[in-house]
Amino acid sequence: MGHALEFVRADIIARYKKLEGYNVFFNSGTDEHGQKILKKAEEDGKDTQNFVDDAYNYFLSQVKSFGISDDVHFIRTTNEKHILGAQEFWKKVSDNGYIYKKNYETKYCTGCEESKTESELVNGECPIHPGRKLEIINEENYFFKYSAFGEKLLALYESRPDFVVPESRLNEMKSFVSRGLNDISISRKKEKMGWGIPVPGDRDQVMYVWFDALTNYINTLGWPKEEGEFNDFWVNGTPTQYCGKDNTRFQAALWQAMLFAADVPNSHQIVVDGFITGEGGIKMSKSLGNVIDPKEIAGEYGTDALRLFLAKEVSSFEDSPFTVERFKDSYNSGLANGLGNLTSRIMKMAETNIENPVEISNLGFDNEFKNAIDGFEIEKATNFIWQKISLLDKKIQETEPFKLVKSDKEKGVELIKELIKELGVIAFHLRPIIPETSKKILDLIASNKTPGTPLFARKD
Ligand SMILES: [Zn+2]
Repeated sequence: MGHALEFVRADIIARYKKLEGYNVFFNSGTDEHGQKILKKAEEDGKDTQNFVDDAYNYFLSQVKSFGISDDVHFIRTTNEKHILGAQEFWKKVSDNGYIYKKNYETKYCTGCEESKTESELVNGECPIHPGRKLEIINEENYFFKYSAFGEKLLALYESRPDFVVPESRLNEMKSFVSRGLNDISISRKKEKMGWGIPVPGDRDQVMYVWFDALTNYINTLGWPKEEGEFNDFWVNGTPTQYCGKDNTRFQAALWQAMLFAADVPNSHQIVVDGFITGEGGIKMSKSLGNVIDPKEIAGEYGTDALRLFLAKEVSSFEDSPFTVERFKDSYNSGLANGLGNLTSRIMKMAETNIENPVEISNLGFDNEFKNAIDGFEIEKATNFIWQKISLLDKKIQETEPFKLVKSDKEKGVELIKELIKELGVIAFHLRPIIPETSKKILDLIASNKTPGTPLFARKD
C-alpha cells in the first residue's frame, strides 16, 4: 500500500502538470540489487535473475491496478542502460577523487540496505526493522567521500527552502547533515555478496545497492549523454522525486552529494510521504494480519476508488491508517452517496428536461486547487473538490429544481443547466485524481444522459 501511495500521488502530479501544458517525463522503476534480494531469492530456492524477473512482472501487474498513466517509463536496475550509466557515474566520481578503498567493520541492516551506527540503534536493533538480525560486515571496500559534501548540502538546503517537502523533512535533513557526515562504503566483496553491478576496473567488487539505484534518475534520461532528454528534463527541467520518509536521507542527502561529486546538477525537489499504517498507527505486517493488498482493493472497489482514498483520506505528509472499514466508509460517503449520487441526480434532471447537451467549455483549474497541488498538498486539493460536491448537493436541496421545472419551466431549465456546468467543473478537477470517473462524467454531460448503472454501487 505504501508503494501504491507513492505511485498514485506521483501520477496525480504528472497528470496535473500535463493538463497544465508541461512536457512531463514520468519515471519509476525497480531496485533489483542488494543483499535483501539475494537472500530472498536463496530462501525461495530461485536463481536471482529469475527471482527479480518474477518480482518485476508481479510489480507491473500491481501498478496497472493503480491506474498509472500509460506513458510512464520504467527502469529496472538490472537493465543494460542502467548498468552502464551506474558504472559511468562511478568512474566520474572516482576520477573526481571522491572514491577510495579501506578496511572497516560495520553493522548492516538488510531491511534498509544501510550501515547503522550505534547511536541509530534502539535496543541494538534497527528501529525500522525490529527483530531483524544486523549483519556484521568486516572487509575491504570502496568508500565514497560523503564527508566532503556537508557544507555544500547545507548551502543547498538554505538556498532552496522547498527543496524537500514538507519543511519538517527538510529540517530533519539539515540536522542530519549538521551532525557531520561519515564516508560510506559503496561496494561489497563479490565473494561475500555477489548480486550487484560490477565495480569498474575491479572484478572482485560489486556496487552498494543505493549507489547504483539512485543513478536511475538520470540513466532513464539517457545520461551520460548530456543532451536530449537528460538536458531537457534534468538540466533545464524541474526533476522532482517522490519517496517514503524512510528514503529521505538517500534521496535528499546521499544522492545530492553523489551529484555534486559527479558534477551533475542537483534534483529540483524531493517530496516525502508518510507511512501507511494499520489502525492506531500500528505498522502493517503479515504477523499482525493487517496487511491490505492494493490490487485486491482496486479489484473489488475499482481503481479510482483506491486512487481517491490515497489522495483524499491519507495525509499529504504524515503517517495515516488504511483499514478496510475506513476505506468502505469513505467509499460509501464520498463516492456512492457523494459524487455518484450527485451525478445521477443532475443527469436525470438533464435527460428529462433538457433537449440538447449543455456545452462545457473554457475549463481551467481553480487557483485554490492549483496552489494546493503545486505544494503537493494532494489531500487538500482533493478535499477542495469534495467541498464543491457538497455545496452542489446543498444547492439542489435548497433550490429544488425538480419542482421548479414543473411550476416555471424556463427558470427550472436554466437552473438545471447551471447545475450541469458546475458538475462539469467538478469532473474537470477530478481528471488528474480519478481520470476514469472524470471522463465518464464528462461523457455523460456531452451526451446528456443518466448513467445506466450508478457510477459507484453502495457496498455493505
Ligand atoms: Zn532497517
